[in-house]
Amino acid sequence: MVKNTLAFLMIMMLFDTCKPQTESESRWCDQLPREANTQFQKSEYSNYWFEVYQVQDSIYAIYEPYQWQEVISYLIIGNEFALLFDTGNGIGDIKEVVNKITSLPIRVLNSHSHYDHVGGNADFDYIYGMDTEFTRLRKQGLPHERVAEEVSPEALCKPLPEGVIAEEHSIQPYEIDEYVAEGFTIDLGNRLLEVISIPGHTPDAIGLWDKENRLMWTGDTFYQGAIWLFAKETNLTDYKRSISRLAKMSKSLKHLLPAHNIPLVDPSLLTELDDALLQIENSEVKGVDSTDGRIHYTFEHFTILMNKD
Ligand SMILES: [Zn+2]
Repeated sequence: MVKNTLAFLMIMMLFDTCKPQTESESRWCDQLPREANTQFQKSEYSNYWFEVYQVQDSIYAIYEPYQWQEVISYLIIGNEFALLFDTGNGIGDIKEVVNKITSLPIRVLNSHSHYDHVGGNADFDYIYGMDTEFTRLRKQGLPHERVAEEVSPEALCKPLPEGVIAEEHSIQPYEIDEYVAEGFTIDLGNRLLEVISIPGHTPDAIGLWDKENRLMWTGDTFYQGAIWLFAKETNLTDYKRSISRLAKMSKSLKHLLPAHNIPLVDPSLLTELDDALLQIENSEVKGVDSTDGRIHYTFEHFTILMNKD
């Protein structure tokens, strides 16, 4: 997801899709932790900014609960190197966390190039990137003005980490060392990961598939919360096609590992989302016009936000 000028209501929607819209009094972060996340034990690698959970053998979720995006990056430890799937907002020092977890070399792959997932990229030496125009554009970084809101008081549950200055927050440019595409495999020695191209949320959105262990990292293509389908780089037709593809795979999966809110999610929700998109297309559900200029479609496990046209 990507936030620029967001009404508080949307944060509430993001936090809990079932919450009535009148509860705009309390702060979103007063309701942390999310109930689904209480099952995870905070590992010793957690610090002031990040909560780190070991969610599977050799897989760590690195979660930023005190910033409204509630981004989750993942460290997947191999035999010869470790893959860092996303680098977060670039507010806390994710490299420091990762280096505590493993002494192996780190390679970075992004679920997509929105700023809340590439913020720490510049600190790493080896970065895989999708071979798309959008990826090439976003590797140039973003100036402070584009991400100032992400370090504003409304976006934070507690003061920024020591030494981090709000006025200086920006997304640093980074180099891409190896371009990848659909079907590219990353062999960690003990685990084989396959890139699947699932454009829609952005042109460079990917899933990362561990076939043997029946895991799928879904980035922002699917997470439990309010799913944003209104950005100008979002292509709804592509998105629907990508969700149909994932939904077909869902029965063979054990867990989804999304990039926001909750690190382990039931794959059957992909079928629900596929069905929800069809219901919207066929006008079988009624959306609610919101003051933010979008239509909100609320379902049991997620909300879908679309432009009005
Ligand atoms: Zn995001």
